[in-house]
Amino acid sequence: MPSEFDLIRRHFTRPPAHTHLAVGDDAALFEVTPGMQLAVSTDTLVAGVHFFPETDPGDLGWKTLAVNLSDLAAMGAQPRWTTLALTLPRVDDEWLTAFARGFFACAEIYGVDLVGGDTTRGPLAMTATVFGEVPPDAAITRSGGQAGDDLWVSGQPGLAALGLAALRGQVRLAGEARARALAALHHPLPRVELGLALRGIAHAMLDISDGLIGDLAHLCKRSGLAATLEAESLPLAALTATGIEPAYARDCLLAGGDDYELLFAAAPTRRARLTALARQSGLALNRIGSLDTGNGPILISLRTADGLIAQAGGYDHFAQD
Ligand code: ADP
Ligand code: MG
Repeated sequence: MPSEFDLIRRHFTRPPAHTHLAVGDDAALFEVTPGMQLAVSTDTLVAGVHFFPETDPGDLGWKTLAVNLSDLAAMGAQPRWTTLALTLPRVDDEWLTAFARGFFACAEIYGVDLVGGDTTRGPLAMTATVFGEVPPDAAITRSGGQAGDDLWVSGQPGLAALGLAALRGQVRLAGEARARALAALHHPLPRVELGLALRGIAHAMLDISDGLIGDLAHLCKRSGLAATLEAESLPLAALTATGIEPAYARDCLLAGGDDYELLFAAAPTRRARLTALARQSGLALNRIGSLDTGNGPILISLRTADGLIAQAGGYDHFAQD
C-alpha cells in the first residue's frame, strides 16, 4: 500500500500555473494580484449524504471542485487556487487516478491551481476550499437586491433533481433525456464566466445549490425584500420534453437541489443587455420574476396571469392553497 506521501505525489501533484509553492511543503505560498480582494469558500461532499458511494470517481473529482467554483461564480469572483481535503476508507489507486483526472479536468478548464490539502482515513468525503479574486466593491452579494429588480436564472434548473430522481428509480427517462439529466447531476458547470460578466450589472446573486425557492428566500431575507415568480416564465419546456408531468417539472425546477445555476437580481433597464449576453454566451438566461418590498412572513409568491397560486415562507416547497 503506498504511503500518504506517495499517494499525494502520484495523484495530486501537478505543476502549478500561478503559485510560488504548491503541494509538498507545510503550507502553500501564492501572491494575490495587487489591489484584489480574496474570495474564499469551502464545501464538503459526504458519501451517502451528497452522493451515492458507487458514483463514478471521475465525476466525483469534477463535482468536488465544480460545486466550490460555483460559489465563487456567485460572488462574481475569478477562481485562482484550491485546496483538497480527502477522507478515504482505503487507498484504491484506480479510484484515485479517476478522481484526480476529474478534479484536474475541472481545475484546468477554470484556471485553478491545486496548492495543498490533507489526506486522512475514514468514511469517504471530500472538501475543497477555493480562493478567487475580485476587485474591491465588485463582489455580488446576496444583500444588494432592490425593490423593482427583475429576477433572472441561468441554464436549466431542475435538471439535476430529475437526474437524481431517475437514479432513484422515481422517474423513467429515455436515452438522451436521461443522459442530459445525469450530466446535470454529475457534471455541473459552474457559471464562472457569467458571474464575471454580471459584475456591475447584478445587484444581488447566489447559486441555487439547495433549490431555487430556498435559495431565493436567502436572497430575499438578506436583501430585506419579497419576491414574486411568474409561473409562465419558468423554463419548464426542456423538463416536460423528457415526458414528465408539468407539475412534477415545476417541483424539480423550484425545489430540486444540486443545480449550480446562478440566480440574480438586476434592474429592468438591463434587460436588453442581459438578453444579448445570453445570446453571445449560449447560456440561457430566463427572467422569472421580480423583487418587491417585503410583506411579513411571505417571502415568495408564485402567480399566473390569472392570479396568485401559491406562497412560501422560504422553505422547500410551496404550501399549496
Ligand atoms: P502535514 O503533515 O504537514 O499536514 P501532509 O502530509 O498532510 O503534511 O501533506 C503534505 C503535503 O501534501 C502538504 O503540502 C499538503 O498540502 C499536501 N496534501 C496533502 N493531501 C493533499 C491532497 N489530498 N491534495 C493536495 N495536496 C495534498
Ligand atoms: Mg496533513
